[in-house]
Amino acid sequence: MTWSAREQLYIDGQWVSPSGTETIEVVDPSTEEVLATVPAASERDVDRAARAAARAFPAWAALSPDERCAYLDRLGEQYAAQSEKLARTITAEMGAPITQCRQVHTGIPGEVIGQTARLAREYEYTTRMGESLIVREAYGVLGAITPWNNPIYMMFLKALPAIAAGCTVVHKPAEASPLSAQLVCEILDAIELPAGVYNLVTGTGKVAGSAISRHPAVELVSFTGSTGAGAHVAADAAAGVKPVVLELGGKSANVILDDADLDRAVQAGMQSAFNNAGQMCGAWTRMVVPRARLDEVTERAVAIAEGYVVGDPRDEATTIGPIVSAAQRDSIVTYIRSGIDQGATLACGGPEPPKGLERGFYVRPTIFTEVGNAMKIAQEEIFGPVLAIIPHDGDEDAVRIANDSIYGLRGAVFSADPGRALAVAKRMRTGEVDINGYKLTIDIPFGGYKKSGYGRCQGRFGFEEFLQIKSIQL
Ligand code: NAD
Repeated sequence: MTWSAREQLYIDGQWVSPSGTETIEVVDPSTEEVLATVPAASERDVDRAARAAARAFPAWAALSPDERCAYLDRLGEQYAAQSEKLARTITAEMGAPITQCRQVHTGIPGEVIGQTARLAREYEYTTRMGESLIVREAYGVLGAITPWNNPIYMMFLKALPAIAAGCTVVHKPAEASPLSAQLVCEILDAIELPAGVYNLVTGTGKVAGSAISRHPAVELVSFTGSTGAGAHVAADAAAGVKPVVLELGGKSANVILDDADLDRAVQAGMQSAFNNAGQMCGAWTRMVVPRARLDEVTERAVAIAEGYVVGDPRDEATTIGPIVSAAQRDSIVTYIRSGIDQGATLACGGPEPPKGLERGFYVRPTIFTEVGNAMKIAQEEIFGPVLAIIPHDGDEDAVRIANDSIYGLRGAVFSADPGRALAVAKRMRTGEVDINGYKLTIDIPFGGYKKSGYGRCQGRFGFEEFLQIKSIQL
């Protein structure tokens, strides 16, 4: 066994029994077997965790940034020693290929630890404005609710800057990925983070998640997940007049202009769209290409898709693992059928499971071409390995298509002319645009326009979400 599970919650510096008997089954998406069960926290458990976090807050916030960051330094040391176990745990619970779990799902969060400590140590908490002092101080108790698709990165983008800023945390990981959160919690326990600073409540969104958003001791909620659930969180938090950071879904456009290097644009576009089996909020799931080059682009994209190795995520050669759950797999297959029904051209893939992979929640990498932007597969977030190639008739039309979406999370522009690419990027109503490449940068602000959410995570902008602003008139 390369992972372990706790049948307890972590509250006030201890693993404790839940108040009820409800549990959540964690299913291995590659075998469909139950890996473990974890507690489904009740409202009472959340109350216990929130009160522990509130009790811990004054002393934790009173420490200097350097004293708080010393814990992050220790976390960094122990995290490195546990990273292989963590990678295997993530592969087991959500099905990402082991090589990607090492590089992306555990590697990048590892970088966030040191980066957050540096940022919190160097941050200017007090500035002068005329005769006033502007002081930034810890917000209070944070309710952190995270998804399964990039479980530790999402957890770290909330919990670590919050802890470094002096906040205390009640964290609920997704139902599908509690084991990796428990393992990180074991490390936080081992470094003797003071009791109540970080509390882990595994549970469902409807019960534990909603209880966190509504709890009077929770002063701020940071949520990453679907747009539907985010709207519930915001409504729950509104009654308590508490701010919410929402990192939600996306349907990002990769805009390829007629002078673009097609090899580069399609290569990068495929990398973004099929990364993590397409289960990425910022995936460029719409490839918007010059009509005259539609066939060339489709051929290139299909050739790349045919090179993917779909299969057992524990095999080092695998590039696309299973989808996280049966429900999510079924939803993706329904979208693929809708693309066919609505008249898009299926260039590769399709609704049937990949050959030889009838067990496990596998989906064939699927590309549709000649897609109309009004079709369901171009408008709705599929969250699977499905790309829609959409023709455009010039820059103006490409911008119109890119912006014809309820979402606005990421996007890309490819052009040989940097000025032209920048002009298009500026007109895209989205939180991030990459020019001529797929870039993953962990210190720039990341967040959405429109129904992709509000507030920002990552780097200084993400850190500032966890700080209150006080003006002291001298
Ligand atoms: P989800 O919305 O089903 O669940 C996310 C989290 O919210 C889980 O912990 C869940 O238990 C909880 N939750 C669900 N309903 C809730 C409620 N009413 N109150 C409180 N909590 C509730 O999403 P998911 O399937 O885990 O993740 C996939 C979604 O997350 C996709 O839509 C994806 O685009 C989005 N996502 C966004 C970002 C981003 O940074 N914008 C990053 C990763 C994933």
